[in-house]
Amino acid sequence: MLIIQVKSIFEPIHIAIPENLKCPNCGEKGNVEVTVYQKHIETGFSYKVTKKLSGTAHCTHCSTDIANVQWSPEIETTFNRLKQEARVQKPSVKWTTTFKLFLGFIFLAFAFVGYQIYALYTENKDKQHFFENPTANHKILVSHTVREDYSKTHDYGNNWAVIRKIDGDTIVVQFHNNKVALEEVSDSKAPKKGYNGPTYKIKKSEFQKQQRVTEYHKKNGLGLYYAYIWNFEKE
Ligand SMILES: [Zn+2]
Repeated sequence: MLIIQVKSIFEPIHIAIPENLKCPNCGEKGNVEVTVYQKHIETGFSYKVTKKLSGTAHCTHCSTDIANVQWSPEIETTFNRLKQEARVQKPSVKWTTTFKLFLGFIFLAFAFVGYQIYALYTENKDKQHFFENPTANHKILVSHTVREDYSKTHDYGNNWAVIRKIDGDTIVVQFHNNKVALEEVSDSKAPKKGYNGPTYKIKKSEFQKQQRVTEYHKKNGLGLYYAYIWNFEKE
């Protein structure tokens, strides 16, 4: 939560003790001090010099403040004259460093969110482009299970695979022999060489639309059973 504390400052700009002024409290002459103030307003965000002027009267003889309602026409006239004579500061507003930092922070926050959206958009577009245009030598990181006979599926874990070639609705992929541990999947980079593992023919249309690997089943449903694509890398 943001708390803004507004502080009014009355800056004395002119003081006079005219000889003819009489104190309404003690009746003494020549001891009434009339002060003209200019109002300044300070908040955590700004410092403002207003054009508002105010005045006080104080008797130095009886040490009392003379309230505005007690002012005699003479005190009133004196105050008005002093207002004319006073060196009034030009009204202005200055923004504090806190405010500038706050603005900077807001700006950075927006820039950060904007960048995140942009990055996400670019990443999605990049991903979509990759899957829509399967290209030889591009690589995919795949978690795969192979059905070796009717009763047995074997989980081969996560491996990188390279796209060897595209042939009609068929993509030929060949797996790398080295497994990628599950905890390393997100940081794993595709090896440049060594794709000497099993080769599978996968459906290009599934790859493009579903962004997944589905093999053309070998006889009787044997072959690549399930494959999830974790990541991809262009050549
Ligand atoms: Zn007095």
